[in-house]
Amino acid sequence: MTAVLAVDGDAAQANGHAARESGRRMGLICAALGCVVFSLMSTGCPPRELVVPPPMNSSPPPPPPYRPMPPGWLGPRPEPLPPRKAVVRQTKAAPSTRAEQVGTSVNGAPIYMHTFGTTGPTTLVFGGIHGDEENSSVMAERLVEHLRANPQFTANRRILVIPRANPDGLARGTRGNINKVDLNRNFPASNFKRSNRHGGQPLSEPESRAIAQVVNTHRPSLIFSLHSIANGAKCNNYDGPAQAIAQLMSRFNSYAAKGSIGYPTPGSFGSWAGKDKGIATITLEIPKSMPGNTGWAQNKDAILKAIERGA
Ligand SMILES: [Zn+2]
Repeated sequence: MTAVLAVDGDAAQANGHAARESGRRMGLICAALGCVVFSLMSTGCPPRELVVPPPMNSSPPPPPPYRPMPPGWLGPRPEPLPPRKAVVRQTKAAPSTRAEQVGTSVNGAPIYMHTFGTTGPTTLVFGGIHGDEENSSVMAERLVEHLRANPQFTANRRILVIPRANPDGLARGTRGNINKVDLNRNFPASNFKRSNRHGGQPLSEPESRAIAQVVNTHRPSLIFSLHSIANGAKCNNYDGPAQAIAQLMSRFNSYAAKGSIGYPTPGSFGSWAGKDKGIATITLEIPKSMPGNTGWAQNKDAILKAIERGA
């Protein structure tokens, strides 16, 4: 038993020694591991960057200079939208409304004609062939504005308007042009009479040539020559096949329809275009003292109804 105990005692002693040796080794291993971990932590991780605050005395950059935006500026232009597929729409063509120069006065002023509509019967209207009848030009200009605002009126007819046929006379308030020729006596009618006041020959003046060329080129079937006359003599004077039209106008403007103005008018436009060429021609005479706007208001329906009826 004792020996056994001794043996057991030796074995216990031996066992204790082994345990102490094992603990010592474990301590060494842990210390070595700790060194490795510490080494990794101190040398393997990237260093953190340092944030350096700005010096206290540095100032921020100045703001951009203030620039006021123009009136109506709605902010920066938006980004353009991606292109869309083109859509072709079929629309009815609008009547033509264009102005062109059809002549030049003695003094170099342009003579303009406005054209409305592209097809159908053609009507020519001109005002201001007598420069001291400014109200007739105003009436023609009101007609231009009316036709611009009412394109349906010229959808199936063509209307040519020359508001200022004698620009030099209108600028000076004289009946004749700058050569003192009465342009309404300067047309190549069979009754033309040569004189200083009528011109040395028919169409001696560029202003009357311009109107005659428009007539010969565009061949209107109805013509209005707008004038103003001494108070009390207002009328719808007609030449050529225009009596019915003058009478129709009388229903709207209450002016008398007259086949003669009451005195000879050799070389007049009505004599040439109406009597000689057979074009329905109305010489509309409003009162001399009537403002053009009033003349337009008083004759607007008469003119438009006559154009609607046609020659
Ligand atoms: Zn006149």
